[in-house]
Amino acid sequence: MTTPQLKLYNTLTRQKQDFRPIDPANVRMYVCGPTVYDFAHIGNARPVIVFDLLFRLLRHVYGAGHVTYVRNITDVDDKINARALRDFPDLPLNEAIRRVTEKTETQFLSDARALGALEPTIQPRATDNIDQMQTLIAELIARNHAYNASGEVLFDVKSMPDYGQLSGRNLEDNLAGARIAVEAHKKNPADFVLWKQSSDSEPGWDSPWGRGRPGWHIECSAMSERYLGQTFDIHGGGLDLIFPHHENEIAQSRCAHGTHAMANVWMHNGFLQVEGQKMSKSLGNFVTINDLLETGAMGGRAWSGDVLRLAMLMTHYREPIDFSVRRLEEAEAKLRDWQRAARGAELSGGDAPDPSVAGELADDLNFHRASVALDFIARKAGRDEGNAKHCLAATLRFLGFGLDSLITSDDGWQEPPHIASAIAARLAALNTKDFARADSIRNDLASQGITLMDYKDESGQRQTKWEMKR
Ligand code: AMP
Ligand code: ZN
Repeated sequence: MTTPQLKLYNTLTRQKQDFRPIDPANVRMYVCGPTVYDFAHIGNARPVIVFDLLFRLLRHVYGAGHVTYVRNITDVDDKINARALRDFPDLPLNEAIRRVTEKTETQFLSDARALGALEPTIQPRATDNIDQMQTLIAELIARNHAYNASGEVLFDVKSMPDYGQLSGRNLEDNLAGARIAVEAHKKNPADFVLWKQSSDSEPGWDSPWGRGRPGWHIECSAMSERYLGQTFDIHGGGLDLIFPHHENEIAQSRCAHGTHAMANVWMHNGFLQVEGQKMSKSLGNFVTINDLLETGAMGGRAWSGDVLRLAMLMTHYREPIDFSVRRLEEAEAKLRDWQRAARGAELSGGDAPDPSVAGELADDLNFHRASVALDFIARKAGRDEGNAKHCLAATLRFLGFGLDSLITSDDGWQEPPHIASAIAARLAALNTKDFARADSIRNDLASQGITLMDYKDESGQRQTKWEMKR
């Protein structure tokens, strides 16, 4: 198998560069995930799809068991508290918050699955990592990068000489834009919160700095370190996250660990607007993924997840997208052509994607050129030439389209018993909400090259399919 040399655009260096993982046996990627207080909108779907495509490509190049993809779940946030109070005013706050976050997280995972995204290797929740955040904050204080003021622990941006490298902002820019009057307790207006006090009616955890809750940025520094180490390969998210979120993650992680880099490559997807307008609730063009999948929010009809996926990928990930009915119609026509041409192909577990398609994607995820290559294969498949049909089907599956053709254990072949028992144990753990155990079983299988995909059967029961990359 030819393995293409990956080239990725790095926001940090503002260049497209050859990608060289720190450890090819464990390529490590972190992507900032959703804040779980409401349905994910179609803009939120973009990083889910873009980084899933990259995850698939990395697994192809380095082997499925050699890539660790972490996408966090932000389940502590003031927006969540507000939603909990609004929706469940009669419940104790903790219980109300749990209802909001559980429901939203389940919805997000089901949306991501509908969009053809593989589950990341690990999906840690912020609230399961409060101790790690506190350790990091204590380290920042010990190293004189953070201070306590008016009940908050703040990061001292002046203590980091090269703060601002990712966004290209310097402290003077920040000064000009800051609201100095409200933030008199800060040494510098650009200083940001690591830990803030909670009142009795707010969620909080005991800490050396009083009962409180973490700032937003610290959670990603803590979770990426826990699961990927102090320096890892790729960090991603939408471009609105470059400043302040990613800038501040870098400041925290590098200053706490005394390292030169938090992640070597920083990748950012462009923004999405709808029918030529910025999406906003007040304009009435705020579309959730679920709306598109199930109701007539655009074009008066529902769209399937693979059509949404292709509609998203038709524009290069770094460009802005105008999401429109016309785009959805074009994506649907194209996808159905490809799927029609691939009909009847029989896939087995080890079928690799077409090398020309993988090669185009290796150039900073150039999906447009990959789709031209795919058109070419589809024409050959239409004429039933050689193994074009088979190659087309394998490539479509690699790209995350046509999930129905995934290999399952029902093709007459005996499933190795250890996989069946591990899957049963994981389902049992999920049913008792023992997510740590469920994650550990999944990671264990992932290290053997086995990927799990959860779905609901006709009776609404959770089931798991698995796939092995050879
Ligand atoms: P949030 O829950 O707002 O933190 O967003 C989750 C992810 O979606 C982040 O990576 C954001 O950058 C991304 N995102 C939010 N809105 C858009 C949009 N309109 N277009 C593209 N990406 C977006
Ligand atoms: Zn983050």
